[in-house]
Amino acid sequence: MKNVLITGASGDIGAAIARCLADQGDHVILHAHRNPAHAESLAATIVAGGGRADVVVFDVRDRSATHSVLEKLLTRGPVDVLVNNAGIHSDAAFPAMSEEQWHSVVDVSLGGFFNVTQPLVMPMVRQRRGRIITISSVAGVTGSRGQANYAAAKGALHAASKSLALELASRNITVNVVAPGVIETRMSAGHFDQETLDRLVPMKRAGKPQEVAALVAFLASDAAAYITGQVISINGGMV
Ligand code: NDP
Repeated sequence: MKNVLITGASGDIGAAIARCLADQGDHVILHAHRNPAHAESLAATIVAGGGRADVVVFDVRDRSATHSVLEKLLTRGPVDVLVNNAGIHSDAAFPAMSEEQWHSVVDVSLGGFFNVTQPLVMPMVRQRRGRIITISSVAGVTGSRGQANYAAAKGALHAASKSLALELASRNITVNVVAPGVIETRMSAGHFDQETLDRLVPMKRAGKPQEVAALVAFLASDAAAYITGQVISINGGMV
């Protein structure tokens, strides 16, 4: 049984990833920040179904709070699979973007990647096994109007993951990025009507959180052992 930490598991995509990995028999550690009740209720459902799930709560921007929770978690053994999924957006045309909007988005996505991933790497190195999977966005691949902060944060995750993949390849640890397009979630709700989807997405529909989860589960599996340093898009043909 693998120990899997999913950040942002109180959100829609993180919850789908957690369900999928729990269904495969992994021990899932569900992370939340402001909405721990969502993660608690999902954990209860997983446990009621015979799976193993725990909840951890911290702000990924807060390095010392993050480290203190992870340190405690690591006393029970290494995290075998880390899914960096927590993220926010705060959109504005660039000339109108506030400093707060810029920093908040970068701090959660990119700062969160650093704060959460770093303490978990050496235990993976020691066991010569691990998976680090980070959820980015099509915005990090193509850029996105009104989302310079979000695209910058997501694009930086691609570069950071490729670099970390090089550092960890010889230790049997893979580091990959999943870059979704429009996915049916609360984050995207209200932003994309059918006309917009028809224009933006060759498949003319939003993806489902479960479709993202299936890709993450594959990258977490032994079958994906030779895939590292990659940014894999899941977007209905947008790029
Ligand atoms: P949600 O808004 O549903 O979930 C976001 C998650 O991030 C929540 O669990 C939230 O925790 C967590 N989070 C936010 N801020 C912090 C923080 N400071 N510290 C810790 N956790 C935090 O979003 P989605 O499920 O839709 O998105 C998940 C990921 O997928 C994000 O990285 C997003 O950028 C990416 N993505 C989403 C797409 C979409 O169409 N939905 C498309 C492409 C990429 P809590 O609620 O407990 O505070």
